[in-house]
Amino acid sequence: MCIFCKIVNGEIPNNTVHESEHFLAFNDLYPKAPIHILIIPKIHVDCFQDVSAETMAGLTQFTQEVARKVGIDETGYRLITNNGNDGGQEVFHLHFHLLGGGKLKWDHSHEDVHRSI
Ligand code: 5GP
Ligand code: ZN
Repeated sequence: MCIFCKIVNGEIPNNTVHESEHFLAFNDLYPKAPIHILIIPKIHVDCFQDVSAETMAGLTQFTQEVARKVGIDETGYRLITNNGNDGGQEVFHLHFHLLGGGKLKWDHSHEDVHRSI
């Protein structure tokens, strides 16, 4: 069983921010912003490339609820999913990083950037 499935099952403790029948939001163990929440479906899906449109519809609404709950729906936030090896995915249970609580930096994502201008 994957690490996030163990969190869903309560086998690994987590700091839950918000929960519904199908989704869970909890604080990232190594936060990269004042607010850094992981949002996951409770069912195991490896990555974004494998998720159904139906699950994403529910996850969209749930994510908006989380943003409202932690008070960043109006100040702004960043929502990221790393997909697969090149995307830098480390945990292969679909998750979205919800980052906010301050002005975020926008770093380059690859050394080898081809500029068109
Ligand atoms: P990825 O690189 O797969 O997009 O992100 C995985 C994230 O999961 C990382 O930000 C990492 O800090 C977080 N993480 C890994 N293990 C745990 C854990 O056991 N508990 C929590 N709350 N976060 C975790
Ligand atoms: Zn899983």
